[in-house]
Amino acid sequence: MAERVYKPFYHHLESPNAEAIKVRFWEKVEIGSPEDCWRWTAKANSKGYGFFKIASYHQVAAHRLSWAIHNRRDPGDLLTLHNCDNPQCVNPVHLRLGTDLDNMEDKMSRGRHRNGDRKGAKNGANKLDLATLAQVIAGFQIGLSNTEIANRLGVSHATISLIRLGKSWTEDSAKLGWKPKPKFKRAVSRPSGERGI
Ligand SMILES: [Zn+2]
Repeated sequence: MAERVYKPFYHHLESPNAEAIKVRFWEKVEIGSPEDCWRWTAKANSKGYGFFKIASYHQVAAHRLSWAIHNRRDPGDLLTLHNCDNPQCVNPVHLRLGTDLDNMEDKMSRGRHRNGDRKGAKNGANKLDLATLAQVIAGFQIGLSNTEIANRLGVSHATISLIRLGKSWTEDSAKLGWKPKPKFKRAVSRPSGERGI
């Protein structure tokens, strides 16, 4: 449950090295047309997000740097989100700033589309699969209410409630990192678990 630590980097783009940094950065990108995803070809993590050494002591996420170059400012403590759902992509036109909640909504809407593709548009309201369960758990983890999750995923409120309380899908939920809270503790845990960067 590591907190994301935000470290400003824009000062490097205002230093005498800025042009050299940009050249070194774009050399590692397969630049295409504005509609295309521009693939990062250098170092990446296991999820596909690229990384770039902006200075000997400072590594930044490639897509965040691309956003910063394009928008001439630091993304600050906001996330840099992919409209194209492609972690490798550093096309600044495909990037936008957002919060953890925005990130989760992205994931949920993608999950909904995938489910829709697989099962047809009107899938049974109480039927769940593991992919949807993962979206439900993710919603819990960022503090969404049962109603919010139910509406976003098109699953019944009762289904969500039972999962939250650990009364259904118990084992699968546990595998996905969900531990029901004792009833008297109404704590809502703030962002944890998987998220964008
Ligand atoms: Zn893209």
